[in-house]
Amino acid sequence: MKFYLGTHRPYWLRYSQFKDIPLFVSDRTLRKYKNLPESITEWACDSGGFTELSTYGEWKTTPHRYAARVRRYMDNIYGFQWASPQDWMCEPWILEKTGKTVTEHQELSIKSLANLRTLSSDIHWVPVLQGWERDDYLRHWEMYEQAGFNLESESIVGLGSVCRRQATKEAEWIVKSLQPLRLHGFGMKKTAIQNFGSLLSSSDSMAWSYGGRMKPDPNCPKKSCANCEHFAIDWYNSVINIKYKEELSLF
Ligand SMILES: [Zn+2]
Repeated sequence: MKFYLGTHRPYWLRYSQFKDIPLFVSDRTLRKYKNLPESITEWACDSGGFTELSTYGEWKTTPHRYAARVRRYMDNIYGFQWASPQDWMCEPWILEKTGKTVTEHQELSIKSLANLRTLSSDIHWVPVLQGWERDDYLRHWEMYEQAGFNLESESIVGLGSVCRRQATKEAEWIVKSLQPLRLHGFGMKKTAIQNFGSLLSSSDSMAWSYGGRMKPDPNCPKKSCANCEHFAIDWYNSVINIKYKEELSLF
């Protein structure tokens, strides 16, 4: 599984210590940069939907604007891999904020992919599956098929909204049900990677940042390690060294 280290600091892209670490950078942080950061590593672009929908209950950023920004990033920042669409996550508290149903969020997520691919067909926009119950995800897969998207032929399919309850068996069941799709798990915790990391192609997380704030390294001169390179790299190494449950059970 390829792991993208989430960061609020896009200029890490040019730091030599991140050369072999794929980074996950949100459009929300990147768009504030007048001069885009230089880069020496691979990275993927997150649309920042969780913040946008939980703050406004809708996407304030138009597809045109978003596509234009990602184009600028792709053309100017080395190592761009793919970008998430303006998808609609399905956590109950997000639905409450938007006033829409799971089905509506799923339709809007497909619409966003279709829009972005029409606007900029040379950018790698990944389809994202959304839902809450397992059957929601399976239905969403079918909805993509009906809309003309063959998810099995996609090199990456994002898996949204499982991060809030990924310690539970249900998240694992969802991931198993979605095989053989090449899934990217958004915002995965270590326990989730342990439990079903072998079934994911890739994932990302910023969980280290919270950890760095709550339990900073006592040797660090800073009060908080929420944005410390050393803390992020140690955490990244611990993630890529996780032994998957399936592998352990072989012994
Ligand atoms: Zn620190």
